[in-house]
Amino acid sequence: MSENQREVDVAVIGAGTAGLVAHRQALANGAQRVVLIEGGPYGTTCARVGCMPSKLLIAAAEAAEQVRAAKQFGVEPGSLEIDGAAVMARVQRERDRFVSFVVDSTEDLDPTQRLRGWARFVEPTTLEVTTQDDRAVRVVAKAVVIATGTAPWVPPSLRELGDRLLTSDSVFELPTLPKSLAVVGAGVIGLELGQAMHRLGVETSVFDLDARMPLVSSAVMQDLARELFAARMDLRLRVSNLQAQRRDDGVLLSWTDPDGRAREAAFEYVLAATGRRPQLARLDLQNAGIELDERGAPKYWDERTTQVGDAPIFMAGDIIGGRPLLHEAAAEGRIAGINAGRYPEVRAHVRQVPLGIMFSDPNVAIVGEIPKPEGEGCEWEVGEVDYTNQGRARVIGEGHGRVRIYARRRCGTLIGAEMIGPRVEHMAHLLAWSIEQGMTAKRAREMPFYHPTVEEGLRTAIHDLARKLKMVGKLGPLDCGPGT
Ligand SMILES: Cc1cc2nc3c(=O)[nH]c(=O)nc-3n(C[C@H](O)[C@H](O)[C@H](O)COP(=O)(O)OP(=O)(O)OC[C@H]3O[C@@H](n4cnc5c(N)ncnc54)[C@H](O)[C@@H]3O)c2cc1C
Repeated sequence: MSENQREVDVAVIGAGTAGLVAHRQALANGAQRVVLIEGGPYGTTCARVGCMPSKLLIAAAEAAEQVRAAKQFGVEPGSLEIDGAAVMARVQRERDRFVSFVVDSTEDLDPTQRLRGWARFVEPTTLEVTTQDDRAVRVVAKAVVIATGTAPWVPPSLRELGDRLLTSDSVFELPTLPKSLAVVGAGVIGLELGQAMHRLGVETSVFDLDARMPLVSSAVMQDLARELFAARMDLRLRVSNLQAQRRDDGVLLSWTDPDGRAREAAFEYVLAATGRRPQLARLDLQNAGIELDERGAPKYWDERTTQVGDAPIFMAGDIIGGRPLLHEAAAEGRIAGINAGRYPEVRAHVRQVPLGIMFSDPNVAIVGEIPKPEGEGCEWEVGEVDYTNQGRARVIGEGHGRVRIYARRRCGTLIGAEMIGPRVEHMAHLLAWSIEQGMTAKRAREMPFYHPTVEEGLRTAIHDLARKLKMVGKLGPLDCGPGT
């Protein structure tokens, strides 16, 4: 093996969450020589620019909101002052701490097990890695795991804004909070960051060309999400002709309202939260011996094995574009690592119940599969609870929201839930675990519920569901035969 060529059992491209897990699992599953290739900085998207800094910013925003909300309880905390530099300093300090743990553990890997540089395919399982000192190292592998993640995508209309354009990659680097911010994109990232900024005293407007709210899908939950978020922030949906011009002191944004009125406003910064795209371009997948679709992404990918077609190539994490979440990246990394390590033996793994959470106020969550709208002969039933007058929600001054829990009509097995309301991030887990266990609505109704808790609202929804299902007999998960 020359310095410029490495022969390995498994090459993992990308040292993000999926890649790190895949690397570990490949070693634990028989591969002797595994190399983890990373072109960018170590530390993962989640810790550096994703989950952790965003939740740190949200934690500061929640602290500010608690002070504002204190008045309704007869508590007068005095005037609220937000030190933008201190807010950002804590975000960065804590973020750096999380990142340092990941960087340390990645750097602790044996040097033969890691390689810094950008990888591209030159043959089906042969990669060329351009290292930081501009050497080209050939990596000849028996199996390859692609775990290259995604990067923010910015629409052409915002690309000329220079240092006034922020994405989730740069917003957490600000030395202090901006005075004003236009967030373009009302998806999970846009709403989480937009609401946090608004609550931290930044004059924030969130724009979207569409009217769709993230995660929830039924019409009733869509309407409720729009109503609750529009009441809590400047949310401008269904705008058109959105244009941005760089000015000396910021950005002039112009747009057309849904009623056809032309508008404009000045902002210090624009945050593009307009989606993320798979990092495919550098990979030269046309040399990987796999069929590609019109976007240049692998055409066939099996979520149970993570294998690409029947090639010795596995794909894991956000790059897939399915469920771009940390726990899914880790789960896919695990499957990919096991199968790459054992290749050519490839095993199918059962995927977990889908679970998605938006850390907004109110929390929004989605669990399992949400059936398509009601129609003739529909095979499911829904139980609901309105949180407006739910006991504990009122007690804590958060009487708003709704939960819808779905079950199969034939056997009563829980299949999914849409949730908006106080602390649903925790209740979503209860439901995900129940669905994982194949629990029926009837069995869920028999579970203990402490009083007074927001979980009692779930019981109301489950009662409603069991009543509609007319489930009085001894039905259990085993009654749910194929095709139900
Ligand atoms: C603002 C924000 C908030 C988020 N909040 C949450 C949350 O609250 N909860 C949650 O579950 N998820 C959240 N996510 C999503 C979560 O961060 C991702 O699902 C997860 O980080 C994806 O991990 P990954 O391993 O697929 O990709 P990454 O961690 O992005 O790793 C991919 C790596 O591949 C490297 N790479 C790319 N191309 C090459 C190449 N050719 N050669 C070598 N290396 C390459 C990249 O440099 C990168 O380091 C959030 C994301 C963002 C942006």
